[in-house]
Amino acid sequence: MTEDTIIELKGLTKKFGKSLVLDHINAKINRSEVVTLIGPSGTGKSTLIRDLNMLDTPTSGSVLFEGQDLTTLKDKELDAVRRKMGMVFQSFNLFPHLNVERNITLAPVKLGLIPASQARAKAQELLEKVGLTEKIDAFPSSLSGGQAQRVAIARALAMNPDVMLFDEPTSALDPEMVGEVLKVMQDLAAEGMTMVVVTHEMGFAKKVADRVWFLDQGKIAEDAKPDEFFSHPQNPRAQEFLSKLL
Ligand code: ADP
Ligand code: MG
Repeated sequence: MTEDTIIELKGLTKKFGKSLVLDHINAKINRSEVVTLIGPSGTGKSTLIRDLNMLDTPTSGSVLFEGQDLTTLKDKELDAVRRKMGMVFQSFNLFPHLNVERNITLAPVKLGLIPASQARAKAQELLEKVGLTEKIDAFPSSLSGGQAQRVAIARALAMNPDVMLFDEPTSALDPEMVGEVLKVMQDLAAEGMTMVVVTHEMGFAKKVADRVWFLDQGKIAEDAKPDEFFSHPQNPRAQEFLSKLL
């Protein structure tokens, strides 16, 4: 690992039964890099991103995070590492019975990362980042999808993660709310957050990503800078995938 490497995959392999979903993937992600994972449905994007924090257990190979091989860790050690990896899914999974402040601060206060006396101020600060300070006392049921997803991002940030993993964070949103979530993600990237983003938002990939990984048949079939990828994709399936989008 070089000093800049935050995540390294070595021979990462995942099988579900006989189906080989990830096939000996070798890859590195540098600190502050934004990598977007794209590809047709069923190509293993979610599996790959879930393997980064061991939400899914690889069949073989290693996932190094900050130099530590996560596949060798016990549950307790893994919990500690997972705190440094924020995850945002398609569905927001906010706690429905807690207001926005408590949704954001419950875990970090419990873990002693934030003193209870500073919880509200911390929630306020994080809500400022996602443009929702006025919602601090609101309950999830009163939020729009876009607002809920921005709270979910604030909640992940409350753990002070070193990397943020996003799995199709805007796919469940009404179209008019996609932009507000992408804007928050763009701001995060600009602040230097390391991010791995599964997305179908090619505009985001073009504008914000440092690299695009195109997944096909268990491999990163193409790993390129967005301007190269979108103007001259090398992989035939990537070409086909892109041609269908336009
Ligand atoms: P993507 O996110 O690119 O749509 P996934 O990673 O969700 O793809 O799935 C990749 C493949 O692995 C698919 O064929 C899917 O059916 C299969 N798969 C994913 N999760 C499981 C599971 N828990 N059990 C069995 N098969 C799975
Ligand atoms: Mg998926």
